[in-house]
Amino acid sequence: MSELVNSPAARDIKYVMHPYTNLEKHKEQGPLIIEKSAGVWVTDDAGNKYIEGMAGLWCTSLGFGEERLVEAAAKQMRELPYYHLFTHKTHVPAIDLAEKLCTMAPGNMAQAFFANSGSEGNDTAVKLIWYYHNAIGKPEKKKILSRIKGYHGVTVASASLTGLPYNHKDFDLPIHNIMHVDCPHYYRYGEEGESEEAFATRMADNLEKRILDEGPDTVAAFFAEPIMGAGGVILPPKTYFEKIQAVLKKYDVLLVADEVICGFGRTGNMFGSETYGIQPDMMTVAKALSSAYLPISAVLVSEKIAEGVSKNSGKLGTFGHGYTYSGHPAAVAVALETLKIYDERKIVDHVKEVGPHLQKRLREFEAHPHVGEVRGTGLIGAIEFVADKATKRSFDPTKGVGAKIMATAQEKGVILRATPGDAIAFSPPLIITKEEIDEMVDRFAQAVTSLADWIP
Ligand code: PLP
Repeated sequence: MSELVNSPAARDIKYVMHPYTNLEKHKEQGPLIIEKSAGVWVTDDAGNKYIEGMAGLWCTSLGFGEERLVEAAAKQMRELPYYHLFTHKTHVPAIDLAEKLCTMAPGNMAQAFFANSGSEGNDTAVKLIWYYHNAIGKPEKKKILSRIKGYHGVTVASASLTGLPYNHKDFDLPIHNIMHVDCPHYYRYGEEGESEEAFATRMADNLEKRILDEGPDTVAAFFAEPIMGAGGVILPPKTYFEKIQAVLKKYDVLLVADEVICGFGRTGNMFGSETYGIQPDMMTVAKALSSAYLPISAVLVSEKIAEGVSKNSGKLGTFGHGYTYSGHPAAVAVALETLKIYDERKIVDHVKEVGPHLQKRLREFEAHPHVGEVRGTGLIGAIEFVADKATKRSFDPTKGVGAKIMATAQEKGVILRATPGDAIAFSPPLIITKEEIDEMVDRFAQAVTSLADWIP
């Protein structure tokens, strides 16, 4: 009895407040305890093996057993386990990483600011945008637009940018000056007879109208993920970013590319911005920056923003922003090693090679009577399940169809993620092989077959 009471599962239920979990349900259901990992596989405490079809949370790009990253962290921790970048201090790994990121990123990035998570990165981006506009004498230009179903994190400003109801409801968000515009999901919001290009034009026209309604002198920035990840793996419709960027340029609105999921190869190019012709003024990166072995994120900014921020800090006496762990040496060392491995192993070429295989395998589900849309590119994809294929009617959200498919897939040995609207997401480690893709999709297919037994 006392063994049961003191089991890890019992102690988890008692002591751990889990992120993104129905905490009431958790009391009955308990946790899945993951103990070990290797490659694209993780193993639970009962010895069951799962393919990690989500690379954890879209992040362990090099899989779960990359010794070189372990070594990079250990070596750095022996030499300099901690130092910071406040008050003119620095260390060489941070200098190297900032230079490397600015050099490799699209959009002429001039400087990098380090943080620890995607949320902190986007919070920093918001603050930089406000600080910058004060610096250049445009204190009224402060409104920030992001998109419904966009995901930018969960800190107060980042959760406000996020366009999903469960990140706002009862958290008293979004905050003042952060507002949401259309979700550019053609399958869901394209009108009868409207082409993808015409839909993109409508999205851009709506954005322009919104900027004009708000007053262009009050709109500072637009945040966008190249592919919207946690909102359901929503790809931009053809010509979308070209048209959106023309509107932003016209009204002098900064574009922030949130590359937290798309960055470092996921879409088949080093950055999602390259895949979709985005020339951002700022960029946030995290997750695959360190293959998630240690927490680190970065905000990259263009020359004009770096200069504006610098001048203002000179005027005010300091740039009053920074985290204790901004540029943590161990995290930076792991990130540098991760980027080195991407280069050496030509990770982008690998995604270009195996990505089409994943996309082909996922599209086999298009014929299923309850699959509304299969979408994706590179090594990111989703299958959206619907109640009625002809009308695209979704299942009643209270039925939790996506969550149930996810749970069944887990029973079959593959960990995936149910995103809003019953879209099951796939985002495996970038090192996955074609054979492992087949194994992952075949296991998922078993879960889909069992749908017939319980579909509401
Ligand atoms: N931005 C995007 C696109 C993300 O997908 C995420 C997390 O999934 C975040 C930001 C937030 O990152 P974090 O969870 O590291 O705070």
